[in-house]
Amino acid sequence: MIILKFGGSSIKDSSHIKNVYSIIHSKIKNDNIAIVFSAMGGITNKLIKLAEKAKNGEDYDFDLNSIKSIHQNCINELELIGTSVKLDKCFKNLKIDLSAIFKKNHLSNKLIDKVLSYGEILSTTIIVDYLNFQNIPSEQLITNNIIITDNNFGNAYVHFQKSFNKIKNYFKEHKKTQIITGFIGSTEEGEITTLGRNGSDYTATLFGTALNANSIEIWSDVDGVLSTNPNFTKEARAIPYLTYEEAMELAHAGAEILFPPSIIPVLYKNI
Ligand code: ASP
Ligand code: MG
Repeated sequence: MIILKFGGSSIKDSSHIKNVYSIIHSKIKNDNIAIVFSAMGGITNKLIKLAEKAKNGEDYDFDLNSIKSIHQNCINELELIGTSVKLDKCFKNLKIDLSAIFKKNHLSNKLIDKVLSYGEILSTTIIVDYLNFQNIPSEQLITNNIIITDNNFGNAYVHFQKSFNKIKNYFKEHKKTQIITGFIGSTEEGEITTLGRNGSDYTATLFGTALNANSIEIWSDVDGVLSTNPNFTKEARAIPYLTYEEAMELAHAGAEILFPPSIIPVLYKNI
């Protein structure tokens, strides 16, 4: 088993999704894979803005429509039939949550997490339909009730053993290629939580560890872990080899390529 993870910048529009498909297509010939996805690029920030507007009693229709059209354009360009109905359902539910926030004039961390979870649910809805359309039998795995966390909404602490057991049992019963929502977990009572911004890397390493994966591949728009921030320094170069400790230190020091806690689960298994 190999776990692949693609972040928001890798699936920011239909052409990027097609590119991701070709990577998946080439991998799936040789390996059993499961794939973790973030929300489409920029969507999580847009969802935060949307929830804030609803809380402040501002008109949020424009922002909601902009999120809708990003996803709708994407499925049009991918020529997917039937996906639109699924997206509409998600947006209907999102609207219910936003109305609740609007009425209460209050935005709890719990409700933010609920709103943010739509980002990964929407992206994986599109990807699953596209992979099936391309004859890769796959299904969506929404990770609430699978990744079990405490109720520290926005930055939830993952209960490893409970989550690993859930993941293992789930994979015993589901044999298609799993398209997994990054970032999302839930409390034992089923309330949606999130693992912290950029937390999809962590989802990938949690699945990899639970399933004893041979490797976990974090795909990104830069060539690996760089020696410094490539946005500011031309001399940034990829570091060919890192120990887990070094990777963790770099992540803590601000290397955006890796979500710091994501190293912890794999340390134990040497993946
Ligand atoms: N979509 C979430 C975020 O933007 C998680 C992730 O991208 O890893 O933080
Ligand atoms: Mg990232």
